[in-house]
Amino acid sequence: MATDCIFCRIVAGTIPSTKVFEDDRALAFRDLHPAAPVHVLVIPKEHIASTAHAVVTHETLLGHLMLTAAKVADQEGLAKGFRIVANTGADGGQTVDHLHLHVLGGRSMTWPPG
Ligand code: IMP
Repeated sequence: MATDCIFCRIVAGTIPSTKVFEDDRALAFRDLHPAAPVHVLVIPKEHIASTAHAVVTHETLLGHLMLTAAKVADQEGLAKGFRIVANTGADGGQTVDHLHLHVLGGRSMTWPPG
């Protein structure tokens, strides 16, 4: 755990969140500033700063996060489709330095993103 990381503090329960899924390795909770009718963040409980900081020993965990994102989308009723986003680094638009997948849905998405 990184004590100065807000998502680590959400995992620890010292910052409240609206959880939609949790298991031993992952946590999914609603984004504070939703960009779509459904906007959930899926994070590893282990602190990994970004996808660029992931290493080969994280391979199984990264797969688990992707499957968790799909499970959350199903749970949220996103049968018509959804988007999974992993902003990475400054140019990628990452603002919280704890790896996370955005699961966005409930409206039609456009491409390319901004
Ligand atoms: P990023 O910009 O890809 O790093 O995404 C970070 C996301 O975390 C943003 O969509 C924020 O709205 C969201 N966020 C920041 N703090 C909190 C919080 O305390 N609870 C839930 N979502 C948060």
